[in-house]
Amino acid sequence: MRYSSIADAYERIEATTKRLEMTDYLVEILKETPTSLIDKVVYLTQGKLYPDFFGIEIGIAEKLAVRAVARAAGHREKDIEEDMQKTGDLGETTQKFMEKKTQSTFFSTPLTVQRVYETLDKTANSTGSGSVDMKLSMLAGLLSDASPSEAKYIVRTVTGSLRLGIADMTVLDALAVAFGGGKETREELERAYNISSDLGRVAKLVAEEGIERIKQFEVLPGEPIRPMLAERLSSSAEILEKLGGKCRAEYKYDGERIQAHKKNNDVILFSRRLENITDQYPDGVEYIQKHVMAKEAIVEAEAVAVDPQTGEMKPFQELMHRRRKYGIQEAMKEHPITLFMFEALYVDGKDLTLQPYPVRHEYLKKIIEKTDNVKVAESIIAENPEELEQFFEKTVDDGSEGIMCKSMNQDSVYQAGARGWLWIKYKRDYKSEITDTVDLVVVGAFYGRGKRAGTYGAYLLAAYNPDTDTFESVTKVGTGFTDADLEKLPKLLDSHKISHKHPRVDSTLEMDVWFEPKVVIEIRGADITLSPIHTCAMNIIREGSGVAIRFPRFTGKYRVDKSAEDATTTQELVEMYRGQLKKIDG
Ligand code: ATP
Repeated sequence: MRYSSIADAYERIEATTKRLEMTDYLVEILKETPTSLIDKVVYLTQGKLYPDFFGIEIGIAEKLAVRAVARAAGHREKDIEEDMQKTGDLGETTQKFMEKKTQSTFFSTPLTVQRVYETLDKTANSTGSGSVDMKLSMLAGLLSDASPSEAKYIVRTVTGSLRLGIADMTVLDALAVAFGGGKETREELERAYNISSDLGRVAKLVAEEGIERIKQFEVLPGEPIRPMLAERLSSSAEILEKLGGKCRAEYKYDGERIQAHKKNNDVILFSRRLENITDQYPDGVEYIQKHVMAKEAIVEAEAVAVDPQTGEMKPFQELMHRRRKYGIQEAMKEHPITLFMFEALYVDGKDLTLQPYPVRHEYLKKIIEKTDNVKVAESIIAENPEELEQFFEKTVDDGSEGIMCKSMNQDSVYQAGARGWLWIKYKRDYKSEITDTVDLVVVGAFYGRGKRAGTYGAYLLAAYNPDTDTFESVTKVGTGFTDADLEKLPKLLDSHKISHKHPRVDSTLEMDVWFEPKVVIEIRGADITLSPIHTCAMNIIREGSGVAIRFPRFTGKYRVDKSAEDATTTQELVEMYRGQLKKIDG
């Protein structure tokens, strides 16, 4: 298959802001792809070579890419850099210089997808001495044989700036149409994706073996399962009513969510975003090896930092000491952890994700050997609001954030990748504040003035709407930032700066700067109001109005453990708005 087919599809996808058209173009390209290559094409369209949890990035520094372009186009690096200052995009500059070159030469063998993929794979995997030169010559070789448009996309891919805006959900829609037999099969494909986190594998399987095979799809140790998430309510009575009069209420620990995969003595730990964080928790690995009494298992736990002297639980922030490459051994000593286990999703050949929670909980109790550092989350079974309220108050007294109330009904499966009413969180915050904190995505900014001249003054924040797969603006925030934040946040955002509003961002505001929806921060607001300016939940509560968060403040928490799609959703904000009204009325 020629790489030009892909580059042409990219051109078309880039020219549209409509998700439906984007899906149509994807369907076309997927149908054209030989089945043996489907996985690779899926990864490439998202600017990757492997699913995220592999942790392999193509990652070529821009400087090196400039050198490769200069070599392939027969120009000086300085010329390329100067032009890039003007275009702001090395891809566009590459295309321009390659066009100049093709006027005088013919290109040789046409590029195939295989060759592009394999070359990028080799560059991604080459390390050690001499690897820079090798990367340079491999990339320059590829570019020399590429057409100007192909070269543009290759350069964007290797520098991590192929920003076509093709979300996972768009790929799933396209797969359903191309190979599933129609849109209605998207649900089965989505489940397969939710329990494997590998779009390429799902794509290849449905293309090769059809939708019936996808229906049989099961979890596999080594492949992370997308996490199940909770809805929220603010009274014991409402919670019990929603859960059918009975629930298991557990401590809601404030640490880092960890999904542990055990295969004999091998253990992999995944974060909430499904990054491989095994290296950050050598102690966690050891606990799983020794105290999960199964040959193979997938379990979930909250890792909580504990005071080595007193054994008291410490707040989430303490775990940030683990987010580093070196000095883990010291961090382990100074900030030891306890694992509070709350899920068993797979045990010795059995996929438990479709079993009701009481069954999964039984398995969990059976396979966990309790120690000081490994525990099953403390819980009660509650059948009336009084006992639930008492338990809630006890947990809050203990310094916990609150409780997680879990359905025990027959249908209480593990809803991978979904936020639903089978889990309901009841947090301390709801009692004293009108709104809980929310996690929002930074999508734009205004330049600052006065003390903030030269940096950004206020940021435009958005909530995620999973139905439309867009980010809807909900507030502008300029307070709560320390001097250190004012330095750190622009740095975090700069690599996501784009010249126009992102196709998945829904906003009527004119911003000075736009960003790809990537960075998530935690905000506390005073209340939620209706607003004609913000697009979040537009027309849902009232025609012509969306909802907005008033008097927002940055809490200081960067939600690096969340991707943009994990941000607070439009639906959650609508519920928070309605809950707030109920409280005022009542
Ligand atoms: P969310 O994960 O729901 O998007 P969040 O990261 O802001 O939101 P919360 O809403 O406060 O976190 O709570 C959910 C998180 O609570 C889970 O992702 C998990 O990390 C943690 N947690 C602590 N104790 C438990 C428990 N017993 N069962 C399930 N999750 C728990």
